This record gives sequence, C-alpha cells and structure tokens, in this order.
Amino acid sequence: AEELSKAYFIQVIEDLIPWIEDRKEYFTDLDSAIGDGDHGINLSIGFREVASHLDEWKADNVAGLYKNVGKALLDKVGGSAGPLYGSFFMKFGVPVKKKGPDEGVTGDEFVEMMDKAISIIQKRGKSTTGEKTMNDTLMPALDALKAAHAAGDDIKTAMGKAVEAGKAGLESTRDMIATKGRAMRLGERAVGHLDPGAASTAEMLEIFYKDMPD
Ligand code: ADP
Ligand code: MG
Ligand code: MG
Repeated sequence: AEELSKAYFIQVIEDLIPWIEDRKEYFTDLDSAIGDGDHGINLSIGFREVASHLDEWKADNVAGLYKNVGKALLDKVGGSAGPLYGSFFMKFGVPVKKKGPDEGVTGDEFVEMMDKAISIIQKRGKSTTGEKTMNDTLMPALDALKAAHAAGDDIKTAMGKAVEAGKAGLESTRDMIATKGRAMRLGERAVGHLDPGAASTAEMLEIFYKDMPD
C-alpha cells in the first residue's frame, strides 16, 4: 500500500520554505561562531528560488519535483552546504522516478529515497561521521530509519526514531573538532559549538517527519 501521498511530498517543500526564513538567523549565528556566518543566508537564497518556481513543478511526479528543488539549490547556492543540500534533493526522488505524476510512495521506497539522498553527501563531501558536519546528523538518522523499518515499524514511527537519532548526532558535534569544512581551521576552538549544517539538517528531517500522516 502507498503510505506517503504526492501531497505529502509537496507539503514538505511548502514547509521548508517558511522554516528556513524562521531559522535563518539561528543557523547563521551558529555559522558565525565556527564558520563564515552565512549558512542560514545560503539556505534562504536557495529556498526562495524554490518558492518562486514551486507552482510550476507541482504537476511533475515526486522525482521530478525533488529534482527541480535540488537543481535550484545547486544552481543558486554557493559554499558547501548549498550544493550538498542540492545533491540530497536531486537524489531523493531517483528510486521512484518511474512513478506517475499523482502517485505516492511506499515505506520501502521512502527508506530507499532517504538512503540515496543521504549517501550522496558522503560521496560529494568526501566526508563521514565524526568530522563535525551534517553527516553526524544524517548518517545516524538513516541507520535508525533503516533499523526501525526493518523491524516492522510503520514509516512515521521509523522516521520519528530517525529524527531522535539525528538530534543525538547533532548534539555530538558540540564536542568535536572539525576535519571538514571551514570549521577545520579553528581546531580546538570549534569545540563547544554545534555544527550549523548538522543543526539545519536535523530540523529538516523533523519536517519530513511531522508532515507524515499518523
Ligand atoms: P560554507 O561553509 O561554504 O560557508 P555553509 O555555511 O552554507 O557553507 O555550510 C556549512 C556546513 O556545511 C557545515 O556546518 C557542515 O555541516 C557542512 N559541510 C561543509 N563541508 C562538508 C563536507 N565536506 N561534508 C559534509 N558536510 C559539509
Ligand atoms: Mg558558511
Ligand atoms: Mg560561505
């Protein structure tokens, strides 16, 4: 049975647009402490571009919609996180690219989509966990999602566990020194600060969770 409708996937994008405007300053403040203070601004530039085209893209299938979102982020956002977010959205729909324009996806497919989307970040970023990046949120979240799904949890329950694992991963970045990204240059001085990309991706996953029907 289809557990997640096309409307769900549109809703997620519609909710990411105002979310980044609300949280822009917070992510930028985090980035001011250990980077160059633009993380919130970068994401806002990308999602404003998405907002200006979303209506045209809604008629596409889930894969087409997310590919357009990813392309917009890749085209419009500089720096590290923009292209990594862009790749995430580009890959997200690939496992369901053959679906019709109004088709939803199953729980199995959703897990595969998250797997593809999250895995591309390690490839593109040449990075993994323990380096004080968004991987510290995303990789434990993916592991939790897969484990819960394999154990038979429904997709919302499984995604709820992914969100919790992602938040724990985010917290773990506080004590890390960075070995990737701008915070690398700070060495020990980055300790005590959350990673901005880990923070934004934790909240993004929460939107994917909250929009799922009960
Ligand atoms: P920039 O650092 O170019 O100004 P942003 O401020 O938008 O870009 O994004 C910074 C975030 O990008 C970091 O907090 C980190 O989570 C993430 N990041 C940077 N480099 C990598 C990488 N190689 N792999 C994964 N994530 C990375
Ligand atoms: Mg930055
Ligand atoms: Mg920058």
